[in-house]
Amino acid sequence: MTYRAPVADIAFALKHTSGLREALAEGLYGEMDEDTIDAVLEEAGKFASDVIAPLNRIGDQFGTPFKDGKVTTPPGWKEAYTAWAAAGWNGLAAPAEFGGQGLPHAVNAACIEMWNAASMAFGIGPVLTMAAIDALDAYGSDTLKQQYLQKLVTGEWMGTMELTEPQAGSDVGALRTRAEHAADGSYRLTGSKIFITYGEHDLTSNIIHFVLARLPDAPDGTKGISLFLVPKVLPDGTRNDVRAHSVEHKMGIHASPTCTMVYGDKGGAVGFLIGEEHKGMACMFTMMNRARLAVGVQGVAIAERATQQAMAYARERKQGAGGTIVHYPDVKRMLLTMRSLTGAARAICYATGVALDRSLRGKDAAARQAAHQRCSLLTPVAKAFATDIGIEVASLGVQVHGGMGFIEETGAAQHYRDARIAAIYEGTNGIQASDLVTRKVPLAGGNTIRLYLNELREIITAVQASNVETFGQTGARLNDAVDSLERATQWLLAQKTSETTLAGATPYLRLFGNAAGGCLLAGQALAALREGGDAAARVALARFFAENIAVQAAGLERNIIDGAASVLNAEAVLQ
Ligand SMILES: Cc1cc2nc3c(=O)[nH]c(=O)nc-3n(C[C@H](O)[C@H](O)[C@H](O)COP(=O)(O)OP(=O)(O)OC[C@H]3O[C@@H](n4cnc5c(N)ncnc54)[C@H](O)[C@@H]3O)c2cc1C
Repeated sequence: MTYRAPVADIAFALKHTSGLREALAEGLYGEMDEDTIDAVLEEAGKFASDVIAPLNRIGDQFGTPFKDGKVTTPPGWKEAYTAWAAAGWNGLAAPAEFGGQGLPHAVNAACIEMWNAASMAFGIGPVLTMAAIDALDAYGSDTLKQQYLQKLVTGEWMGTMELTEPQAGSDVGALRTRAEHAADGSYRLTGSKIFITYGEHDLTSNIIHFVLARLPDAPDGTKGISLFLVPKVLPDGTRNDVRAHSVEHKMGIHASPTCTMVYGDKGGAVGFLIGEEHKGMACMFTMMNRARLAVGVQGVAIAERATQQAMAYARERKQGAGGTIVHYPDVKRMLLTMRSLTGAARAICYATGVALDRSLRGKDAAARQAAHQRCSLLTPVAKAFATDIGIEVASLGVQVHGGMGFIEETGAAQHYRDARIAAIYEGTNGIQASDLVTRKVPLAGGNTIRLYLNELREIITAVQASNVETFGQTGARLNDAVDSLERATQWLLAQKTSETTLAGATPYLRLFGNAAGGCLLAGQALAALREGGDAAARVALARFFAENIAVQAAGLERNIIDGAASVLNAEAVLQ
């Protein structure tokens, strides 16, 4: 079954509970209005459904053959990419000064969902180019911006993001690629990178590599890393000293070429410094945080696609006296779990997008700083919660199909295979959880998360005050979940050793996602009751989530607070 972009649902999630509507009303986006945003989403939905989605299967089957240093993308991909870039989609949130459209990052996140639901292997390339644009715009010299930004923004050239080396994965500080000063003020890079997404391909005439490397006098660890822009083709038209050595065979996203890159076979690849020497991690963090939100959105995307497919199958497949399988309580439970987890993750990701916009466009420095902290808090949750549920939902999608789910023909299996990587790249979900508990929860002395919890409580109060019978126990269950999150947060903030904190990091992130996601779904139901928009379905979905998923909070709280000792003192098992 093919994908139809759920434009109305996406628009609803964007306008309610993400904060976009309030930001529009405050003039954060200048003259922009909801009609313009609706029109953009409508067009994106058409392109994703009609042009990209039909390429997903062929991409999976064809892969990216590699011969003589060259990668061939699947049939139809180059044409689709060229049309996509020509329509301006790559520069949607990029600065107008360099040919972009300057639209909200939150709207771009909604579009990224559609590109990736249509095909994750297609969508991941532009995700990295967009992140590269943001880093170059924030830290690049005027000369570099003039030379490279416009062509990256229009999508005429694509970008890559290059951290990983065999010994340096999660531990980026262990990287060894070397950069040396050249007489003309540029640098020469030697070394190799592994697992580089779209490191080589035939979609664009040039590929701009954003590479982390170490100068000879660099201090050890992440403090000694610098970021370099290394074009495949140099400004004078000659080929730079960088090449793809091989392409990986993978479990999923077969049409996204994952390359081993080699720098400096012939003496050194020409690179240009972005930002300051030894300060590359700061630049890379801009790039990574944008990409982390986008990868979270990939989780939403694959969950949406798997859910659509499972819903359609369940309505048609006949088994037993019940008629179609959609009538069986266990199948209903699976479908509701899929639909509600997808909606919860979408709401969190879009809210993160608006926080990002506020951090860039807020009215004064204090507003931007507060928004930056909100965005920093939500980004690991958006990335890890959404990609974890992407896998769970895609797995349920296989289950709904029964035996046919295991057979490649239906496509359900591809979603499951594709979904798996999003929890690994852009910082594994374990790293996201560690980041959340060690750096993000303590932000502003714990005030950033306290403010957030207060906002969740306001939604719960409104649910309880609504007296809508069909909400059932929604308010009470969400209240329990937020209570658990609050107690777990206080416990985390009071811990003296990071080991106990880290032992509960993953359950804490899940608790955060469940509590926040449940409240945001309830907020959407309230909005639908107020303004119309399928209120019965939204209330039922919020209720299902609160009464069946948010209730896991109590167990997760126990995991976090009481489970650390059994994690840390189990050497006998792990020997
Ligand atoms: C298809 C694909 C595309 C990719 N694209 C890119 C790309 O474009 N650019 C790029 O630079 N990289 C890319 N990567 C690399 C990817 O980001 C890394 O694989 C990932 O960051 C994990 O690093 P690793 O594989 O070395 O695993 P490891 O770091 O060895 O991790 C193994 C396990 O240990 C855990 N772990 C490690 N350290 C810690 C810690 N401190 N605390 C808690 N747990 C820890 C991890 O969570 C994980 O479960 C890609 C990888 C794949 C497979």
